[in-house]
Order: sequence, then C-alpha cells, then structure tokens
Amino acid sequence: MPDVIAPEKPQPLTALTEDETLFRDNIRQFAEEKIRPLSKEMDEKGVFDKDLVREFFQLGLMGIEIPEQYGGGAGTFFEAILAVEELSRVDASAGVVVDVQNTLVNNAILRWGNEEQKKRYLPRMASEWVGAYALSEAGSGSDAFALATKAELKGSDYVLNGRKLWITNGKEAGMFIVLATLDPAAGYKGITAFLVEKDFPGFTVGKKEDKLGIRASSTCELILEDCRVPKNNLLGEAGKGYKIAIETLNEGRIGIGAQMLGLARGAWEFAVKYALERKQFGRAIAEFQGIQFQIAQMATEIEAARLMVYNCARMKDAGVNFVKEAAMTKLFASQVAERVTSLAIEIYGGYGFTKDYPVEKYWRDAKIGKIYEGTSNMQLATIAKLVLGK
Ligand SMILES: Cc1cc2nc3c(=O)[nH]c(=O)nc-3n(C[C@H](O)[C@H](O)[C@H](O)COP(=O)(O)OP(=O)(O)OC[C@H]3O[C@@H](n4cnc5c(N)ncnc54)[C@H](O)[C@@H]3O)c2cc1C
Repeated sequence: MPDVIAPEKPQPLTALTEDETLFRDNIRQFAEEKIRPLSKEMDEKGVFDKDLVREFFQLGLMGIEIPEQYGGGAGTFFEAILAVEELSRVDASAGVVVDVQNTLVNNAILRWGNEEQKKRYLPRMASEWVGAYALSEAGSGSDAFALATKAELKGSDYVLNGRKLWITNGKEAGMFIVLATLDPAAGYKGITAFLVEKDFPGFTVGKKEDKLGIRASSTCELILEDCRVPKNNLLGEAGKGYKIAIETLNEGRIGIGAQMLGLARGAWEFAVKYALERKQFGRAIAEFQGIQFQIAQMATEIEAARLMVYNCARMKDAGVNFVKEAAMTKLFASQVAERVTSLAIEIYGGYGFTKDYPVEKYWRDAKIGKIYEGTSNMQLATIAKLVLGK
C-alpha cells in the first residue's frame, strides 16, 4: 500500500458527494424517527430491538460495501463510516451493530473469502444474518494471539474447542468469524479464522454481559464444544488468521472512531439545546462565558475527531496505508467522546446526572471506546512503534 496519494485537486476533508449527503441524511432521519424513541428502553432492558435489526437490513445498512452481485449496496467504506456516525449520534449500540457487521465481518469475508464462501454467505449477510467477530477470550485480550481455542482437522471437518468472551452481536448473530489455533506451539502462526454458523453442532452462545454502557448491544460468551466446522469454512489460509485479525481490526478502529464521533456529537447537541433553554441568574446559561467556552471547546474537539475519522476512511478507500492513522483516530476520538459527554452532563447540572435526561447515557456509552478493538494503551503502542520506526 502506498503511504500517500497526490490528488489532482484536494478537497476539504468534510466535503461529501451528493450520494454521500443523501445517504447520510436518510440515515439521520431514520435514526431520529425509528431509533430515538426506542433508545432509552433498549438501554434499560439491555436488549436490542429485533425490528430495528430488520430495518437495518431493509435499509441496506448491513451490507454497505457488499458488491451488488451478492445483494449488497456496493458502497464505500466511507459510507459505512458515515452510517456508524449517524446511528451513534442517536444510539451508540445501534452504531456498533452496524459497525461490527460492516467493518469486521463483511470486510473479512470480502477480503479473504473464496468465491464459494462469498456466494454462500454475502447475500445472507446483506439480507438476514447479523455477524459477530470472535477473537477475545478470558485469558487473551490485549495479548489476543495468546488465544487458547483449538481447532483440529478431523476428516472433512475442523473440530473447535474453547470459549470466546465479550463477543458483540453474540445474541443476534447468525454468522461468527472465530479465531482459533491449529497449533498452540506455533504461537501466532497457528492462528486460523473460521466461518462458524450459529447452528453448527457444538456451538452455543453463553452468558450475556450486563454492562455499564452500550447496554443494548449484546456482548456474549461463545462456547465451542467439539464444534464441527466444514473444512471449506476455513477463511483465508491456515495459520494466517493473525493477519485477518490485525487487518480487519485496523479498519474496525476507524469504525469505533466514527461511533465515538457520532455519540460526542449527539451529546453536544443536547448540551447546546439545554444551555439555550436553562435559565439561572435571570438568563440562559448559554449567555455565561464559562458555558460558551465549554461548548466551544467541545465543538472544536468534535471537529478535530471528525477530520481524523473522515481522513482515515478516505485513506482506506484510496488504498493508502492507514494503520497509524486508524490507531490515532480511535485513541483520540474515544478521548474526545469521554470529555465531551462528561461536560455535557455538567452543562445539564444535577439533571444531567439523572436518567430522566439523555446525557448520562452518552457518557456511559462513550467509555467503551477506550477499551474494545484494542485498549488506548494498545493504540499508543502501535502509534509509538510506527512513529519511532521500530
Ligand atoms: C462491550 C465489549 C465488546 C467487545 N466486543 C468484542 C468483540 O466483538 N470481539 C472480540 O473479539 N472482543 C471483543 N471485546 C473484547 C475487547 O476487545 C477486550 O476487552 C480488549 O481488547 C481488552 O482486553 P482485556 O479486557 O482482556 O483487557 P487486558 O488486555 O487484560 O488489559 C487490561 C489493562 O492492561 C493494559 N495492558 C495490557 N497489555 C498492555 C501492554 N502491553 N502495555 C500497556 N498496557 C497494557 C490495557 O491497556 C488495559 O488497561 C469486547 C469487549 C467489551 C467490553
């Protein structure tokens, strides 16, 4: 991949094409009309609304980049990022359902699937199956390649044994990309990716976590007990799963950046509206310079995060190396999201601290940005390695 491109006529990073503008506006409207009314209840119950998932498929949100020949929208990665941003502005759980589907699962099948796997699975991913991406285990998080789930070839099947933890979309998914090792002694070179259907024998979805934030997004344990996976469901090459894991997560991080950007925007918009309405000392609190400066600082940080997210997504679509920028984007956007959502609560004062108002949820939802798809320390480690040339 080249490191830079030289466009004939550089455009502002926030410039959208007509198609992108239409796409974004449609999702914004959908999110306001269909997701906003359900968001609080989904958070309280910790359950994602099934009809919403159906609507995601109908709108084409679950197969944005899948080519038309497999029933997808033939869109760009940038469009997937716009979708995650707009959904997360209203509900970060909705954002991550669509994010994992597009940036991790569909992306891995598109890049590493053989023609037969693409024909079999992509039309379903675009129309009915939610996807999940199963790398983490109880003992292997940041050190992901220390995973212990084993795969063994027995006749025409691989037999998988082990447990996965923290798997987003676990409850809703029909397709799981599972990373397991064919040879624990080979370290990362034993790691192999498999396409595991929910109904494969020996596969069960276990406990669902009760979480601080993104509560409607299911996070589940997966149990593989002599789980039989047909030989031709090996994704990519045997022993090359580490490459699939690293490269999909590089893209995924831009998606998490977009999720953080969207939710920061959502919280900021509420804070501005409230500041204009709430009166103290006989005037709107937005008239106090202290509040104005907080709102200005938040807006500036959101703008910076947006530039990073959009640039990174454009880099991906342009075929330019974006590994460092993706790590920076996730690191920074998650910091912005935490700061902005926290300030939004303060602007609401005591009301912001209650569940009667929307901002405390944004703050809870923001926290995950520093943890999944590589913690902030792991992003810093990647950035340090790349900037120091190690
Ligand atoms: C809601 C949620 C959804 C998730 N979804 C998925 C999913 O869909 N698929 C999936 O595979 N996983 C998923 N995960 C797992 C997630 O990616 C891991 O939790 C994350 O990578 C961190 O791993 P860990 O929890 O084991 O923490 P650990 O790796 O144990 O880290 C604990 C702390 O130590 C720090 N640390 C660790 N190693 C180093 C080091 N070398 N240098 C400096 N600091 C270090 C970390 O930064 C962190 O602060 C999800 C997690 C959550 C909470």
